[in-house]
Amino acid sequence: MDPLDLDANATEALRPAAKAALVAALRQGGNPSSIHAGGRAARGVVERARRQVADRFGAAPGDVVLTSGGTEANALALHGLSPGRRVLVGATEHPAVRAAASAAETIRVLPDGRADLGHLLALLAEGAPALVCLMAANNETGVLNPLDEIAALCASHGALLHVDAVQSAGRVGLDARRLGAASIAISAHKMGGVPGAGALILAPGLHLPALIAGGGQERGRRGGTEPLPAIAAFGAAAAEPYDARRIAGLRDAIEAGLRELDPAIVIAGGGAPRLPNTSLAVWPGVPAETQVIALDLAGIRVSAGAACSSGKVGASHVLEAMGFGADAACGIRISLPWNAPDDAPQRFLAAYAAMHKRLSSRRASAST
Ligand code: PLP
Repeated sequence: MDPLDLDANATEALRPAAKAALVAALRQGGNPSSIHAGGRAARGVVERARRQVADRFGAAPGDVVLTSGGTEANALALHGLSPGRRVLVGATEHPAVRAAASAAETIRVLPDGRADLGHLLALLAEGAPALVCLMAANNETGVLNPLDEIAALCASHGALLHVDAVQSAGRVGLDARRLGAASIAISAHKMGGVPGAGALILAPGLHLPALIAGGGQERGRRGGTEPLPAIAAFGAAAAEPYDARRIAGLRDAIEAGLRELDPAIVIAGGGAPRLPNTSLAVWPGVPAETQVIALDLAGIRVSAGAACSSGKVGASHVLEAMGFGADAACGIRISLPWNAPDDAPQRFLAAYAAMHKRLSSRRASAST
């Protein structure tokens, strides 16, 4: 049997429309900066994709800066917006934001994983112009931040808001114009495109200095020859619908099965609004790495809540910030791709139950 991939938050399953656009752009080739017909055709591909991305997120195409992905989009925002401002960063932000925001102050989160708006208000009330960085959806728990309330608080205190929407983009609605954030980061490969493209969506008319200077591409906001195939795939993926109801149904079936199997298992942020596709299941006392390896051997691919690029698993800073203490290293992230099969819950739960039985008896005999 094929392995069951439940690791969409690491990279979403490729959309067939994105694959088709990628192959067509590869065949076509060309550098969008060339003046000849081949270059003009390539320019057309880039601008069409930019329009598709802008349309999906309620932005004007001119306010979409194409980047190499989510990490660069976040870094571009921080680089351009933070000078002269206090930088306030949510405790559960992705390392892409935390690393780009040096000397930042931390906005606490509530036990359910949402930003603590009382704490944000207290920080904003201290005065001095601020840049607030809060994610739309957490990559480990899927917990959604109350963006409208956050944007209103920022506006009433003259603060700029940067939103890392890498995990929510394409999975829950996001209207950039209505939200009024200074910038929003998104990534193609988390939406069913391929790695190598992403975007920073800017507030109307906002100009940011380039992080990567070069040949004047992206109207001077991001240098470097555009990766045509990845951008074409990005645009096509952005135009695809997402069946949130079906995916949430699968997610709920998985969570119900886990609760029934062992009431000690905790779904982190389970009481908060979340992405339809994500569960972070904490089995107290059992390291995430052990669970991930056991499930992998059974053909089920999930992640530890936090895995660094070395593949090493440590305690999740997200679970730590939510107050999980020693169990912050015991959470596995189950993230359903858009094309998860309908029997995903049954397959996952059968493998999980077998692992649970084996590890429980091993723990019981170790403690006697
Ligand atoms: N922000 C969040 C919330 C993410 O989950 C990720 C990737 O996991 C990134 C940013 C980085 O995006 P990219 O992989 O496109 O650089």
